[in-house]
Amino acid sequence: MFSSVLSADVRGITGMPIWVETDVSDGLPGLVMVGYLASAVRESADRVRTAMKNTGVSIPPKKITVNLSPADTKKEGTGFDLAIAVSLMCSLGMFPKECIEKVMFLGELGLDGTVKKIRGVLPMAELAKELGCAVCVIPKDNEAEGRIVKGIACVGVENLRETLNRIITGDYSQEDISLEIIKETQETNPDFSEIRGQEGVKQAAKLAAAGRLNLLMVGPPGSGKTMIARRIPTILPQMSEEESLEVTKIYSVCGLLPEGVALMKDRPFRAPHHTISVSAMVGGGRQQVMPGEISLSNHGCLFLDEITEIPRNVLESLRQPLEDRCVQISRVSGNAVFPANTMLIAAMNPCRCGYYPDMNKCHCNAGEIHRYLNKISMPFIDRMDLCVEAPRVAFEELTGEESGETSKKIREKVLRAHQMQTERYQGSAYRFNGDVKGSDVEEYFRVGKKQKKLLEDAFENLNLTARSYHKILKVARTAADLECEKDIEVSHILQAICYRNIDRKFWAV
Ligand SMILES: [Zn+2]
Repeated sequence: MFSSVLSADVRGITGMPIWVETDVSDGLPGLVMVGYLASAVRESADRVRTAMKNTGVSIPPKKITVNLSPADTKKEGTGFDLAIAVSLMCSLGMFPKECIEKVMFLGELGLDGTVKKIRGVLPMAELAKELGCAVCVIPKDNEAEGRIVKGIACVGVENLRETLNRIITGDYSQEDISLEIIKETQETNPDFSEIRGQEGVKQAAKLAAAGRLNLLMVGPPGSGKTMIARRIPTILPQMSEEESLEVTKIYSVCGLLPEGVALMKDRPFRAPHHTISVSAMVGGGRQQVMPGEISLSNHGCLFLDEITEIPRNVLESLRQPLEDRCVQISRVSGNAVFPANTMLIAAMNPCRCGYYPDMNKCHCNAGEIHRYLNKISMPFIDRMDLCVEAPRVAFEELTGEESGETSKKIREKVLRAHQMQTERYQGSAYRFNGDVKGSDVEEYFRVGKKQKKLLEDAFENLNLTARSYHKILKVARTAADLECEKDIEVSHILQAICYRNIDRKFWAV
């Protein structure tokens, strides 16, 4: 007898329907699995057979063929086990086909018949809803994320026996579970007011948050670069529901959702170690394609400390995703696209000892400094919208009771700046000043005569590239947005030029 059951796989962060077809017929006894399968999927045959045996379902000595369709896409992962078992039980005539119509089955099976947690339940449950399913049966441990999808019953099951009972009785009632959402951790988070001094760097951080701009901080160790970077998520407004959902999907695909957490509410802050590889940074993997740090920090911040220590090829691999705001990974098995809408915050020492340009303390020679700075390529520096010098300060000066603006207060200003940008980019593909590309820069960021003259002089005198000229305009526009000004004033342009000067100072050695 033939039966067909709906299951799913993920590509990037979207679900993809997979039909599990099973046929039981007379012939040489055995279980054959076909349909362009990765080895983990092929091993499924043994898991399913043993799980069924231990659930008390005996498999007759017949010829069983399982096909995962469509046959032209490679199936990876272990999430098809449950669907295969259900399809097989249906083929054996344990329940009529009607019982599993409009039901999607997701889950890995243990040998004892338990249904184990899998990755990517959220996008797959969303797909089930789009396909018009009434029920999506998922592992109990994934229930919280499945419940985010409204308009479909996502039922968590513990084992194969329970699944079988539910199918036969048609009882897909859900237990009430308290959906825990990551609590607003803002109160316990570090606060901007704890940082004293470093006004220039703090202003740069505000601009970066307001315009979704990339920031590079250059300064000696102990100048508070990391302290400031860690506080940037606290001055960004709350994520919208859509943003939350996208972030949650990425974490769901990676299997990184904290236990019992349904929806990620806090903006991600990722600070990978400098020994990171290309595939861990931008995504990849030989078997299953997984998102990298740049996607895990989607809608949040990616903080790279000591960027001179990061291998050059890893840094260069970030260039395209930063520009496109997404990562495309091509494999023989298909293409995956992951969002990479992140804010890059980078920090570095100005030289090996860290004291350059303070020549009283720095004991590096010119060649050493040059070599050190040149670990970062000019095209990469060009990708950074804001470059700021973090001068050395005593630690006691950096932290203290005396407080400046609180994160909450700055967040309100940033939110207003974001609202101005939303109005400006209505009907376009852009959302923030940092997104605006090429020729659109001059279109969107118009300036008056006096300002134009100033920019032209700077272009001549500072020998700017077209790209850095555009960066100055973006930063100036953001500075105006932060002050809720309609027009870009001379002061905004001067401020923006300051944040461009530093890379010339260091990299022109
Ligand atoms: Zn030095």
